[in-house]
Amino acid sequence: MTEEILKVEHLNKFYGDWQVLHDINFDLKKGEVVTLLGPSGSGKSTLIRTLNGLEPFRKGSIYFKGKKIDPTPKEWQKLRQEIGMVFQSYDLFPNLTVLDNILLAPTKVQGRNRADVKKEAMELLDRVDLADQANSYPRQLSGGQKQRIAIVRALAMHPELMLFDEVTASLDPEMVRGVLEIIKELSDRDHMTMIIVTHEMNFAAQIADRVLFLENGRILEETPGKQFFEHPQTARAAEFLSSMEF
Ligand code: ADP
Ligand code: MG
Repeated sequence: MTEEILKVEHLNKFYGDWQVLHDINFDLKKGEVVTLLGPSGSGKSTLIRTLNGLEPFRKGSIYFKGKKIDPTPKEWQKLRQEIGMVFQSYDLFPNLTVLDNILLAPTKVQGRNRADVKKEAMELLDRVDLADQANSYPRQLSGGQKQRIAIVRALAMHPELMLFDEVTASLDPEMVRGVLEIIKELSDRDHMTMIIVTHEMNFAAQIADRVLFLENGRILEETPGKQFFEHPQTARAAEFLSSMEF
């Protein structure tokens, strides 16, 4: 049986009195790619952030690698070493070089040997065609380059699961492809387990093993990737896809 990486059971989340996520249930097996699609405000970012402990939840359970998460700050801090996340805004440290940005967490948080991590970081940088920028500062890089560095920085932690929230949304169109190619390769070559929020429908159609379609904080449908883009189960998802000119 393929190893289960994540299981979400009856997850309900509130902002104050207002319920933003309603009874979310799904699971994710090792190597699987799930894309979260849905209109703006449907709760995609909230769900992703909850899965990384950045948002508390009131009801329900999250299991990571078969173990129920005790949602305390200390536990999340530990889990975040295994659950990498890349956001829309590349949050690199401006005062550190590219290489030091990448080395920081593996050496300080994981206590790994600096020379080993550096060797690995250089290999990762080479893989995203940025080895020549190792000693640059983030301000010297384009948005697309910064986002590729943010991905490398997350990978340097050896995560078991990667969460991507609209990582190309603020990039110029010519930068988008390079970033998406890296994510695609992570799936094809490394079989990385991933949850991806994206508005790039062609990309989603290529990469998604499954689609979770959200609206108003609810999963309206959960459909195999290919099927979702050809024959979504709900009229709402069909309407969404046509609005995306897909
Ligand atoms: P999406 O990523 O799908 O666009 P979000 O998860 O960002 O959706 O937002 C879901 C809903 O929760 C929206 O109605 C949004 O306005 C609301 N929301 C998001 N963050 C907060 C917050 N910190 N406090 C209160 N409401 C929020
Ligand atoms: Mg969002």
